[in-house]
Amino acid sequence: AAPPADRAAARPATAAGAVPGDGGRRWDHAVVTGGAGFVGSHLCTALLAEGTAVTCVDDFSTGTPGNIAHLRDHPGFTLLRADVSAPFAGHVPGPVDLVLHFASPASPADYLRLPLHTLDTGSLGTRNALALAREREARFVLASTSEVYGDPLQHPQNERYWGNVNPVGPRSVYDEAKRFSEALTTAEAAARGTDAGIVRLFNTYGPRMRGHDGRAVPTFIRQALAGEPLTVTGDGRQTRSLAYVDDTVRGILAMAASDLLGPVNLGNPDEITMLDLAHQLIDLTGSPSTVRFIERPTDDPAVRCPDITLARGKLQWAPLVDAREGLARTIEWYRQRARPGAEAA
Ligand code: NAD
Repeated sequence: AAPPADRAAARPATAAGAVPGDGGRRWDHAVVTGGAGFVGSHLCTALLAEGTAVTCVDDFSTGTPGNIAHLRDHPGFTLLRADVSAPFAGHVPGPVDLVLHFASPASPADYLRLPLHTLDTGSLGTRNALALAREREARFVLASTSEVYGDPLQHPQNERYWGNVNPVGPRSVYDEAKRFSEALTTAEAAARGTDAGIVRLFNTYGPRMRGHDGRAVPTFIRQALAGEPLTVTGDGRQTRSLAYVDDTVRGILAMAASDLLGPVNLGNPDEITMLDLAHQLIDLTGSPSTVRFIERPTDDPAVRCPDITLARGKLQWAPLVDAREGLARTIEWYRQRARPGAEAA
């Protein structure tokens, strides 16, 4: 097989749409696994808006039909309800030029509830998604995660850091599944010439995160809007870097349009403590809520901040939406949804 870079160069530009910031690459048909999830549904929306037909493959284990309700009548949108841990390529018709592999439980509440499913999806699911890309000679992008760095001993984290992960801790089902999926993707590119790329996403937030998925932003917004205390774990001094979903989607599509294998970090280097985040959300919602400190989960990382030098240099990508703006947009979405008769969008 031709090496990845040659294949990508040989692929002709088509009449389908270009996504802003994608470097001009065009796709006719993209398959998005996990397309009914939070990030995946935004990817489907962005691709369709630019004229790419999209097949969303999802088993609704953590995603919801509501996340893609606004796409169901789009002529370019197809939903394939399937578990990617079983071979599914035979159910995807026609040529495919892009496979975005986003299927996987992502919030701690979900992967702790679905430990074996998470390991299967990262291993068997990644193998099956890679098989689809290889068969159709499509570009493949794996959604990996900053969790591969574990509780990092290097700060901020660049892509050359190997991580500090407990292989038998409760979070290992997610962290190790993603580490394995990175290894599989790298081996597949090297051994079979599959045109593959890996993005390591840091925490992303925005509309369509589930209020009860256990992640800080939706939890705090739900609590603030209900006037309940915001539950901050530990002393609240642990940090996260939060990227608004539109920025993350732009970075993923820039990676898809490139010939890079990566891994490439995508995240917002603006670090915020969980306590500051809670106060900022109380302020932005105008809520009477207070903060309540609760126990910190096992192996919860103390710091998390991406070094995005690589993404800046190779993808000309950097986040554009600042925290106040992104959080305000997210709060507005939760408010709209809470109105009687409102539909998820
Ligand atoms: P999500 O739970 O909202 O979406 C995941 C989607 O995958 C859901 O629709 C779910 O039903 C589907 N899915 C899970 N297992 C499946 C399987 N076996 N077969 C078919 N579909 C399956 O999570 P998200 O936040 O949108 O995350 C999407 C991807 O991005 C994940 O791979 C996650 O690891 C990665 N990621 C997300 C973040 C973030 O901050 N949101 C950070 C790092 C990495």
